[in-house]
Amino acid sequence: MSMVTMPMAEPADEQLLLNLLNTTPVVDGQERDELGDFALARQWLAANGQKAMKHEWQGLLELRPVLQAIVRGEQSPTALAAFLDGVGYWPRATADGLDWDLRAPEGRVAAAKAVVAWDALRISSPGRLRACANAECQLFLIDRSKPNSAKWCSMAVCGNRMKARRHYHRAGETA
Ligand SMILES: [Zn+2]
Repeated sequence: MSMVTMPMAEPADEQLLLNLLNTTPVVDGQERDELGDFALARQWLAANGQKAMKHEWQGLLELRPVLQAIVRGEQSPTALAAFLDGVGYWPRATADGLDWDLRAPEGRVAAAKAVVAWDALRISSPGRLRACANAECQLFLIDRSKPNSAKWCSMAVCGNRMKARRHYHRAGETA
């Protein structure tokens, strides 16, 4: 059997994946949904290079909690099966050889890209896509540091907040 080189997700799809995971941030203690209505979602889709269509939005809304649970280790990736119906790669002849185009049913294109990007990351960068270590933060991060030891979505936000809290607790214990 010969080796098959699968097309890899593009960097833009990796960003789409991370941005999708991060559309339910907690702001001032309240969960916010950046895809909460179609007006918001339309802008979000366009900003992420996707077709600003209702079906695409709905597809992402269905996928989002599944992907978030999988990245948190709370759900099996078998749950992704529902998002792979009719998804495939098709070869296209170019001046250099072949390119592979992702095809998915209408309304499932953005979701399929995010799923493929998730799997590409799983293989190329195992364990580097994860939830922020701040239990009150619902954001995710892709750790690109050499030691792969980043804990927080952002040092400026959660990193400092968690440090300040530890300091506060220590100060409280000794007082
Ligand atoms: Zn965080």
